[in-house]
Amino acid sequence: MSALHHATLAELAAQLAAKKISAVELTSAVIARTRATEPRVHAFNFFDEADALFGAAASDARRAAGQSRGPLDGIPIGLKDVIAVKDQPLTASSKMLAKFVSPYDATVTTKLKDAGAVLHGRLNCDEFAMGSSTENSAFGPTSNPWDLARVPGGSSGGSAAALAAGSAIATLGSDTGGSIRQPAAFCGVVGLKPTYGLVSRFGLIAYASSLDQIGPFARTVEDAALVLGAIAGHDERDSTSFKTEIPDYRAELKTRRGPWKLGIPKEYFGEGLDPEIGAAVEQAIAFYKKLGCEIREVSLPHTQYCLDTYYIIATAEASSNLARYDGIRYGHRAAGAKDIVDLYFQSRAEGFGAEVKRRIILGTYVLSSGYYDAFYLRAQKVRTLIRQDFLNAYREVDALLTPTSPIPAFKLGEKSDPLAMYLCDIYTIGVNLAGLPAISVPCGFTKTDLPIGLQLIGQPYQEANLLAIAQAYERGHEWNARHPVL
Ligand code: GLN
Repeated sequence: MSALHHATLAELAAQLAAKKISAVELTSAVIARTRATEPRVHAFNFFDEADALFGAAASDARRAAGQSRGPLDGIPIGLKDVIAVKDQPLTASSKMLAKFVSPYDATVTTKLKDAGAVLHGRLNCDEFAMGSSTENSAFGPTSNPWDLARVPGGSSGGSAAALAAGSAIATLGSDTGGSIRQPAAFCGVVGLKPTYGLVSRFGLIAYASSLDQIGPFARTVEDAALVLGAIAGHDERDSTSFKTEIPDYRAELKTRRGPWKLGIPKEYFGEGLDPEIGAAVEQAIAFYKKLGCEIREVSLPHTQYCLDTYYIIATAEASSNLARYDGIRYGHRAAGAKDIVDLYFQSRAEGFGAEVKRRIILGTYVLSSGYYDAFYLRAQKVRTLIRQDFLNAYREVDALLTPTSPIPAFKLGEKSDPLAMYLCDIYTIGVNLAGLPAISVPCGFTKTDLPIGLQLIGQPYQEANLLAIAQAYERGHEWNARHPVL
């Protein structure tokens, strides 16, 4: 087994169950590693060592009394700083919420606590999850553990970087347009965006409510299956939560063996794709062929409209969701305002960063009278066509295979033009618009040792199948045995 802080959740769960290690030992190893690397990586907005050790000791006591709560009991899991944990800061990496402490637990938090996980820290992200590099955080960017001069991706960059660095055994992020899968690809870990409605959004700070989903980052597909099983399930406090049986995803991995029919959407291999990434994905396709899978080219003809559609719908919903941060109901309150309107103006001007303001302005514009039909309503119609493209493809194939990102991790500060940043999401946003599950798994490295991610897109609520398809690839490769040198 690798060093404790780099071991997989499944390995550690087995060691804990066999009492070969204790949760306090494991948490201490993660704390020591974080102390050593965090000054360079800056994955966390908040890390409570004492609370983590307290949680670990409680886990050991349960286990000693024969009351272990299962594989997650005693495992340090970090949460993106948009997921509420009672009595911990909840900032969305924004000055607006810099002083906010959550009065309640998100549903996923309650579920992880019930499973015995040690929730040791709050992970950095782009402000209100808007971005693709974590550079939009009001508290400074996170660095990519594979190359500290580069971004970890975003918006859940802290969640991916902490895991790659060995500062957590698994983490949670949120994915509105790629924010789990793209940082997973940039940092060489597994990232799963579940089907819309599978995981409760109660207690997740809303960005674009019809697109947002919480999901796991993990070192292996099996680990992702374990965390997904713990957080999925119907929740009456989220009206979009779906009533469905939650299988034992890890057990299902053993029963689903393929061979599968995999579709290659031709629109995802065009201009702008980095040739090294293209080659790595071609090799993955060849690997599946060798496994006996049938590979078919498919078409998602409305792909060219994904970016525009996404940036209309996401900003419209964001402008509405972020209206509550007015310095009165929530958020930073400016000092010395003349009257109530001035208070709104000043509080929002001081509290929000540039990208958040840009999106609120864009979203307000597309929703305003006279423009609603031309932009928002039309985008909703195109969204239906985009979803239909995927469902048509699924008449022929079990899953789709694409690169996760057209480019590997770029340099901090390299993309100053918002449009260039938005283009990074070209392969991930269609999945959110269609509400589908998708996973990014490591599929190699560039010549300069930057991780590459392979995206597999599944059918609605067929996570068990998707995980099995991803694991079939993972089993034939050892990409996740490599760790960044820090
Ligand atoms: N990068 C995309 C955006 O900025 C996606 C973000 C996300 O998934 N939260 O909107």
